[in-house]
Amino acid sequence: MDRNSYIIYIIDLFEKNGLGHLIDTDKASKLYELSSLLVETNKITNLTAITDEKDIILKHFLDSATVCDSFLEEWSILDVGCGAGFPSLPLAILRPDLKITSIDSTGKKINFVNRAANLLGLSNLKAICTRAEDFAKTDREFFDACTSRAVARLNVLAELCVPFVKLGGLFVAMKSDKGSEEYNEAKKGIITLGCELRNMNELTLADENTVIAREIYCFEKIVHTPMQYPRNYSQIAKKPL
Ligand code: SAM
Repeated sequence: MDRNSYIIYIIDLFEKNGLGHLIDTDKASKLYELSSLLVETNKITNLTAITDEKDIILKHFLDSATVCDSFLEEWSILDVGCGAGFPSLPLAILRPDLKITSIDSTGKKINFVNRAANLLGLSNLKAICTRAEDFAKTDREFFDACTSRAVARLNVLAELCVPFVKLGGLFVAMKSDKGSEEYNEAKKGIITLGCELRNMNELTLADENTVIAREIYCFEKIVHTPMQYPRNYSQIAKKPL
């Protein structure tokens, strides 16, 4: 699609999916640039398996947009395991008031996120190459919210994310429609880490060809996370809480 057709298409799709309040022409234009950059860079460096233009809109951009309304004005947000910048890059475009930090253990992905943020003029996003377990040593309970998509099952993900959240802040886990199974498995550990479930939002996203089902779990931190968490990754994975 050329830029104008893309802008008309994506604004219409956001509206049809109940997300129209998040987008305008300027933001749609930035998403167009991000899509082009992702497709071009992906030809040289493997960043994502999703490369079709309309799939990128539905499965990366709209999906990332589903967490936009979870955060209050000007909150600091951490995206754990951001990969090529999802949800953090669309979040930085759609919610310029947020202050976003993205972390991932893979350098080439972090390089892409920082390059995209610079080219798109997203001064509200910085990406750091580190593991969550290491970053928690310096930035513990520093963020208003921590979010993550497609990194680990909830019982593992919670230990990677909850330590970063301030008291009263949120851990927002983006899950598929199998999230309830993961939630039951993770419930006890999430209480141990200091959170309780505030709400779960079930939604579907659709374009003319595809429908995807999503569950967004929103946990509030009600007590400090005990200092022994997060453990090192092999312990977390071998014996999830
Ligand atoms: N969130 C992105 C998305 O939804 O497109 C990327 C998902 S990708 C399947 C998972 C990413 O998590 C990988 O890029 C991997 O390097 C990163 N990751 C896994 N464990 C991590 C950890 N403990 N700390 C930081 N990054 C991690």
